[in-house]
Amino acid sequence: MELIDKFGRKITYLRLAITDRCNLRCQYCMPAQGIDIVDRKELLSYKEMYRLTRVLSELGVNKVRLTGGEPFVRKDFVNFLESLSFNDKLDEINITTNGALISNYIDKLEALNINAINLSIDSLQKDKFAKITRRDVFENVYDTLEKLEESNLKLKLNVVVQSGFNTDEIIDFIELTKNKHIAVRFIEEMPFNGKGQRNIEEEWNFTKIIALVNEHYSTVEKLQDKKSSTSRNFKIPNYKGTFGIIPAFTRTICNDCNRIRITATGMFKNCLFDGGVFNVRDFMRDGASDDELKQLFIDTVHKKPKNGFVAEAARGNDVSESMSTIGG
Ligand code: SAM
Ligand code: SF4
Repeated sequence: MELIDKFGRKITYLRLAITDRCNLRCQYCMPAQGIDIVDRKELLSYKEMYRLTRVLSELGVNKVRLTGGEPFVRKDFVNFLESLSFNDKLDEINITTNGALISNYIDKLEALNINAINLSIDSLQKDKFAKITRRDVFENVYDTLEKLEESNLKLKLNVVVQSGFNTDEIIDFIELTKNKHIAVRFIEEMPFNGKGQRNIEEEWNFTKIIALVNEHYSTVEKLQDKKSSTSRNFKIPNYKGTFGIIPAFTRTICNDCNRIRITATGMFKNCLFDGGVFNVRDFMRDGASDDELKQLFIDTVHKKPKNGFVAEAARGNDVSESMSTIGG
């Protein structure tokens, strides 16, 4: 039994949101006052998350990304990671984090064989960082960046390209790859901001970002992208690290999509842009067996929309929820 959609795409990757809570208030993700967080009992428990991951791993999911909200704000997250690491069907456990709370956990993450950390950092300038995140934690995050770079963990940096805020730092981020073994990934900003009323002057999409890079460097090497990679990847010759662009909003990557999402409240999503297909938490709490869960996953994945535009058109309302509730 495996998860295959009607276009022949095999699902092997789960993105699981650990919580909807966050210690930062990034402007592109939520309004200054934060979002209406749900009651704690509405969140999936760790036991429920463990079960869902186990059942999905029996259907061929071999890679999990833990995200949120900020996964490290949930109590006992590291213990949950440890339990998950005992699932021998999982080849990779990855985490997306803002890094502000984790510098003391890096040894533990190495010991648990966590595969890669995606660290979100949108500016290398303290003041600008504080303006974007609405919190003054640049030093903590940069400290995490340096410790992760020295560790055995693979390190990717997530940089949301924000018109009027950090486009002047695109080259600075690429210069970080000169001496560091990191992969910087520039992400197109999407309207998942919890109605944060963003005023986007210019759309910084893939084409515009790569044009700026090409203008600056005489040679930009195109790398072979892995199938199902969300980023188009490049390198400056002789630099240690690489950089990539994630066309999250222009959605030119959907053909090879291999992922599903489960939000912190247990909403199953076939696509980032769909409105949520069913609540797997309620199904479990109503007593569903493992076989019933599997059948539901198989049937639902079969209906996965062709791409993010089809998914968005089918949802009947605007894309405006905060990324922290979806699990970006
Ligand atoms: N709190 C963690 C963090 O920031 O890394 C994990 C959750 S966050 C929602 C996951 C990723 O989504 C981050 O890299 C963040 O920058 C990105 N993100 C959030 N809102 C976004 C938006 N509106 N457009 C594009 N990326 C967004
Ligand atoms: Fe929090 Fe991550 Fe959203 Fe920033 S992007 S507010 S760190 S969930």
